[in-house]
Amino acid sequence: MKALIFHEHGGLEQLSYTDVPEPVVGTHEVLIQVKAVALNHLDLWVRKGIPGLQLSLPHIGGSDIAGVVVAVGQEVDSAWEGKHVVLNPSLACGKCEFCRAGQQSQCINFHILGEHTSGGMAEYVAAPVENLYPIPDDYPFTQAAAVPLVFQTAWRALIGQTRLKASESVLIVGAGGGVASAAIQIARLAGAYVYAVTSSPEKEQNARRLGADETINYKEADFAKEIRKRTNKRGVDIVLENVGPATWTQSIRSLAKGGRLVTFGATTGHIGETNLNLLFWNQLHLIGSTMANYAEFDQVMKLIFTHRRLQPVVDRVMPLSEGREAQRILEAGEQFGKLVLEP
Ligand SMILES: [Zn+2]
Repeated sequence: MKALIFHEHGGLEQLSYTDVPEPVVGTHEVLIQVKAVALNHLDLWVRKGIPGLQLSLPHIGGSDIAGVVVAVGQEVDSAWEGKHVVLNPSLACGKCEFCRAGQQSQCINFHILGEHTSGGMAEYVAAPVENLYPIPDDYPFTQAAAVPLVFQTAWRALIGQTRLKASESVLIVGAGGGVASAAIQIARLAGAYVYAVTSSPEKEQNARRLGADETINYKEADFAKEIRKRTNKRGVDIVLENVGPATWTQSIRSLAKGGRLVTFGATTGHIGETNLNLLFWNQLHLIGSTMANYAEFDQVMKLIFTHRRLQPVVDRVMPLSEGREAQRILEAGEQFGKLVLEP
């Protein structure tokens, strides 16, 4: 089968579109014919190499997959064959104390499909049956592939972790990203007042179209000062962060008394400076969040595929053979929403 692979960690030049063997299906797994796979920043980090992450090379990335079940393992119900599905890329052991408590993303052996295992940038992928989520036959695969990773991440961060309430205010930093596009919609659906920080007038317009009440261009203003000004010095109840050092100080300064900052990533580095006087005096909460537990995943998938209250945001669809160019676009931040590849 055709796949986008890399033999060594490094730059874009390591990617090649080539023939590889089809995956072998385990007894509790299914074989999916990949119809669409969406890119995530995770794919870039995995290609460049994450310290401590040992992969068997060559590696096939791709964590956001939509497709059709074409074969099932010995222990899997054959009724799955022919079903349209998306895959939950969260792989948990199911046995540790955190899994048993229903907190799969805190699993002591937590893995992500396409990061630690072969992913969906290929014509076929094998995955555990527990990770399938059926979608309606009329739902476009190129839209569905843009859903699993970003919506579960945004849902757990805002709903599971900060317990966002209607009437609260939320600041979403870096609104061009896939999780942020999901988060704007989720915050709006939950009844919150939404501020979005982004880098261009075009991205501001897109953020407003998704439901942001107000936007700030961080290239034109210190967004913490701008938030203070617009909220009569109060600040916001919640900040959603994933930029890291480049915005961390401003994000903390944007919080109201008792505010919660939730972070799910750090794209500009790993060390953020925290003014401890602000932390205790303003009684702030700093919260980390990764992916979602399986119950949270099901909740947000239902809102997308059954109730259709949330929409995936797709920047563009490209053939899998142009995967290298797609990764270049993501790396350069030229997109708004997801880049989707079709095998
Ligand atoms: Zn576990």
